[in-house]
Amino acid sequence: MGNRSVYLDHAATTAVKPEVLEEMIPYFTEKYGNPSSIYSIGRESKKAIDEARDKVAAALGAKPQEIFFTGSGTEADNWAIKGIAYTNRHKGNHIITTAIEHHAVLHTCQYLESDGFEVTYLPVDKDGLVTPEQVRDAIKPNTILITIMFANNEIGTIQPIAEIGKIAREKGIYFHTDAVQAVGNIPINVEELNVDLLSLSAHKFYGPKGVGALYIRKGTKINSFIHGGAQERGRRASTESVANIVGMGKAIELATANLEEYNKKLIALRDRTIDEVMKKIPFVKLNGHREKRLPGNVNFSFEFIEGESLLLMLDMKGIAASSGSACTSGSLDPSHVLLAIGLPHEIAHGSLRITFGEENTDEDIDYLMEVLPDIVNRLREMSPLYEKAVKGE
Ligand SMILES: *Cc1c(COP(=O)(O)O)cnc(C)c1O
Repeated sequence: MGNRSVYLDHAATTAVKPEVLEEMIPYFTEKYGNPSSIYSIGRESKKAIDEARDKVAAALGAKPQEIFFTGSGTEADNWAIKGIAYTNRHKGNHIITTAIEHHAVLHTCQYLESDGFEVTYLPVDKDGLVTPEQVRDAIKPNTILITIMFANNEIGTIQPIAEIGKIAREKGIYFHTDAVQAVGNIPINVEELNVDLLSLSAHKFYGPKGVGALYIRKGTKINSFIHGGAQERGRRASTESVANIVGMGKAIELATANLEEYNKKLIALRDRTIDEVMKKIPFVKLNGHREKRLPGNVNFSFEFIEGESLLLMLDMKGIAASSGSACTSGSLDPSHVLLAIGLPHEIAHGSLRITFGEENTDEDIDYLMEVLPDIVNRLREMSPLYEKAVKGE
């Protein structure tokens, strides 16, 4: 029992699937040709990239020419936002985003503010939602970009992207969505969503780390972000990470083929965990929207507890999870997402994020429920505030 190890942090990263690794390996060894070379092992690499591009495009309902491989989800976000901002600066300098974006978007927007752009950070409601009306009201004559994440990495809340896309389209404003948490977890179609740019990252859906992609709708005015050679049709220079790109293609193909079943499985694990934790542990709050949330995401705040201590004690029991509290981020402030949904600091500090994936089973939840209530109890016993609360003082 002591040796049990349960990984419940799939929003942080996932393991490369064996089938994915198997397809990648030859591109490190015998198929090492540079895709820009015209001899046959070069052409073979080029062909492998094209096939991966077809698979990514198919999964998103896009055309292969609209898919550009990048070095990560973060790079895709940076390119989308800085690319649109600088390329379209003559038309305006205003960007609309939300207060709960991933740092890859948030810090990029803050950087642009330091370079003369104006950014509106839309607040969210207690569930972490923005409304299409909020977006519509924030639009100004100088708005050139709306960037709103598809699904939140901490609390799992899914935004009304298609409705927001419709507004952006009506107004002729570019619309980017960071869909890094969504791709591989929920169905996505760039046509139905009316998005112009969409970021994804392979390591969030059982592909390798260090490769992502940016969907750029045909006709979008955006300059290249990395200057150099003519790779990615001259828009993203540097020798392609062929094995990683091949892995990303295989991973997205597997994810799409298996989406419905995977969805159902994760929802069952998620809902069981929510029900049991809410039933068995007092002074707990579920963060994020109850229904409009990622299938595998659970996020709780436990009052009178420090999230860091909770994570360390879970780790001693072999459970890997995450928290939106201090230290992990190297800062003393709790997560900007938990503060944006209105949690007081002390409650935001006691948060726990559990994100389920492929290899999780009901036995993992049995085990979690065996250890979590005890840990929470033990930590609370050290809290003078808790003592007062239970005595009703
Ligand atoms: C993980 C993540 C990113 C960053 O992707 P990397 O490939 O790790 O750089 C961006 N946005 C969201 C929502 C994420 O979850």
